Amino acid sequence: MTQNSKKFVDLERLNKKIIRCRKCPRLAIYIHKVSQEKVLRYRDQNYWGKPLPGFGDIDAQILILGLAPAAHGGNRTGRMFTGDNSGDWLAKALYDNGFASQPTSVRADDGFRPIGAYITASARCAPPQNKPTREEFENCFPYLVEEFSLLNNVRVIVCLGRIAFDTCCKLLGIKGVDFAHGKSFTHKHLTIICSYHPSRQNTQTGRLKWKQWTSIFEKARKVLDSK
Ligand code: SF4
Repeated sequence: MTQNSKKFVDLERLNKKIIRCRKCPRLAIYIHKVSQEKVLRYRDQNYWGKPLPGFGDIDAQILILGLAPAAHGGNRTGRMFTGDNSGDWLAKALYDNGFASQPTSVRADDGFRPIGAYITASARCAPPQNKPTREEFENCFPYLVEEFSLLNNVRVIVCLGRIAFDTCCKLLGIKGVDFAHGKSFTHKHLTIICSYHPSRQNTQTGRLKWKQWTSIFEKARKVLDSK
């Protein structure tokens, strides 16, 4: 078995484990309930209603780390950052900077494919009010550790929001660095870039404007092109 096919098998095994995970009873109940009750505009769709693994290019040089799937986004479509406002923003910015096959991410089978990029989250189940508890983050953290150990070509990590940044710091043992949108710094062979999360709450209030957002991925592209 080549090194890459072993990596692929290990990642597949991890992803299957994540999909079966029920470590957080509150979240397991919540995502199942959401998948049964649905919202009016998606009432005819079958919701995924399970934990979500990360996805993307196994040889990714850029890792995008989010907070958690959205109840009617990833938890509905079965893929992170797919079928909601955050997914629209992420797909377009990735595509514009050469990190994705197309500028939209609406369904798990829509052909959207990260290029040299991998998308993951700090917690894998959609939480009520988009707020996992500390214990739920802790329960989910080992999955990120394992995932990151397999993604051994990563050179840039883009953290979407303060919580994702805190998770990244925990993952890498970084201490004493504050979060700010657009901030970047190096840690060993990695460049960490901080961004506000492209949630509807941030994009519709103007807290995160398109230019500010796409500049994050322009910066990531420049860093990778210079390495
Ligand atoms: S949030 Fe993570 S640890 Fe908790 S149930 Fe979902 S997959 Fe498992």
